[in-house]
Amino acid sequence: MARRVCIFGGSFDPIHLAHIHMAEAAIEQFSLDDVVFMPTGTSYHKGHASASAEDRNAVIRLAIAGRPHMSISTLDQSRGGDTYTADTLAIIRAKHPDEEIYFLLGADSLMHMQSWYRPDMIFASAAIIVVQRPGVNPDECRAHAKELEKQFPAARILFLDSVFEDISSTRIRELAWMYVSTGKKSFLQELSALVTPEAADYIVSRRLYADEDAWTEAEILDDLKEKLSEERYAHTLGVADTAEALAENYGAPAKQARIAGVLHDCGKFLKGDEYIRRAQMADIELSEAELANSALIHAKLGAYYAKERYHIRDEDILSAIRSHTTGHPDMTLLEEIIYVADYIEPNRDEAPNLEVYRKSAYENLGKTVMMIANDVLEHLKRKGSTIDDLTRETWLWYREHYGDPVTEK
Ligand code: FE
Ligand code: FE
Repeated sequence: MARRVCIFGGSFDPIHLAHIHMAEAAIEQFSLDDVVFMPTGTSYHKGHASASAEDRNAVIRLAIAGRPHMSISTLDQSRGGDTYTADTLAIIRAKHPDEEIYFLLGADSLMHMQSWYRPDMIFASAAIIVVQRPGVNPDECRAHAKELEKQFPAARILFLDSVFEDISSTRIRELAWMYVSTGKKSFLQELSALVTPEAADYIVSRRLYADEDAWTEAEILDDLKEKLSEERYAHTLGVADTAEALAENYGAPAKQARIAGVLHDCGKFLKGDEYIRRAQMADIELSEAELANSALIHAKLGAYYAKERYHIRDEDILSAIRSHTTGHPDMTLLEEIIYVADYIEPNRDEAPNLEVYRKSAYENLGKTVMMIANDVLEHLKRKGSTIDDLTRETWLWYREHYGDPVTEK
């Protein structure tokens, strides 16, 4: 019996488990001897950097290692320039006249295959195996296949029975970068589950998809040194150090906490109504308390600048910046860390009970949030300031979950 070989082309930037599962299903259903992954020479996409051909190939090799009936070909890459499927398949056909050649194709591509370069050549060289895609109606797709078979007598179009989950390469590249920039394990775990642990290790250790736009800590600090007052800058460093120490204490990603600390007051360099004006320019919704006391706005504005100016994509960091002044009920660990670090960092000296909180922060973080929220609220009442609803809600939630500071103290 002739060997059955299926070509699977794509940019594979990077290859992921949906690709592997498609290959497995095709091997099973059509008794294929080999699925050949054939990565393109160049890869273009928006947002994150693309990986070089060498790196994409290395990830493919890791992902298919130990899987029988799968291999890689660099034919398209070695030919250079723009390559047409029709030419690629004709070359393979000519080299392997005794093999049955198949070509794996997404249903969305099949729908406009008649506009490809030389579909007649493609059909003459290979049978097509179509993979169902979530966005393509299967009936329309089969009807279109019938038409192509009518138009091109050599066409043989087969369908994979299984339907595959959509894995987003964009999400993979994002995860790779977020892990490299924060060290947060859950990002690596999610990445490993999408591309195999071996491929994930390669991707992060080689810093593939690193976002060259995102600022490093040193760059952010240089920038803030220009913008913030000397006092505010010293406070920023104090919060970063304290947040890092708290993160280590609670087993949270220290680098992530540090960056959140560095950036938590990055929006605090304006005066009076300038906060309101900038917030309106950025389409940020403001509460009544924020309109009455515009300095409060620096938290939301800071999250905005962290994203837009410093290119921080990690939503955990952004939300910790956003909520550091008012807090909110049931905060995440990182949010609690920044909320507490902001209050207890070593440059602070006027608030009451600081020494108590500097100790309790490492023993019971939630309770420390509750005690700080209590002090903040009392302080605001004494001053007669407008109190943000969230400030009160934070206090209520933490008091309910961590006890009453009056009886506990
Ligand atoms: Fe602040
Ligand atoms: Fe602060």
